Amino acid sequence: MNVRENLAKVREKMSAAARRSGRESSSIRLVAVSKLHPPEAIREAYEAGQRHFGENYVQELGEKQRSLADLADIKWHFIGHLQRNKVKHAIEGTSLIETIDSPRLLEEIEKRASSRGVIVPVLLQVKIGGESTKSGCEPSALPELLAAARRCEAVEPRGLMVIPPFELEARDTRAYFRKLRELRDRVDDSAAVPELSMGMSHDFEVAIEEGSTFVRVGTAIFGARPLR
Ligand SMILES: *Cc1c(COP(=O)(O)O)cnc(C)c1O
Repeated sequence: MNVRENLAKVREKMSAAARRSGRESSSIRLVAVSKLHPPEAIREAYEAGQRHFGENYVQELGEKQRSLADLADIKWHFIGHLQRNKVKHAIEGTSLIETIDSPRLLEEIEKRASSRGVIVPVLLQVKIGGESTKSGCEPSALPELLAAARRCEAVEPRGLMVIPPFELEARDTRAYFRKLRELRDRVDDSAAVPELSMGMSHDFEVAIEEGSTFVRVGTAIFGARPLR
């Protein structure tokens, strides 16, 4: 598995998708999803210029943050389901929490972040596509969730995130990405929430065509994940 080569291929496909859709490549950032891969794989990607990394499990995130503490400008995204009792650890050293889906979770982050004197940038995860997607707020609940996030002093909402049902193929995920962008365009002061985190290994090009600003790519960079 050559991480450097894989990264170069993914970046090339990202640029091509940006060009096709008349977008600036610099408006789309690659989040390398490193869950279940060892710290050495992350270091290899970092040495190839990668800076944003996505992790799904709070404990694993903490262990990796500690073992890679010398990589000063690394940016950690938390992209897993976040339980309230793990918020305290999840916000430590993390650049973006992408999976906010309830006012109760917001309250917990507000409490923990205020007491530490930090501001936590977040994305609101929206559940599009019904049954097979478990996490995320209902689209109809989004305006209220965003309003709640904006009332928090220690939380900074920056945009939206979606995970389409896993079983879908790339051509079928386009509608989900488009829906997320439309939802974002309809909220109050939508310019203040510019980020759209959407697209994974098999469909990040489609997501870029639909306006993604963060693509979360794991397998195409690091190969198949070891079992947990
Ligand atoms: C694991 C994961 C990814 C990466 O998936 P790949 O198919 O390996 O690219 C992206 N987003 C989320 C939320 C994930 O859990």
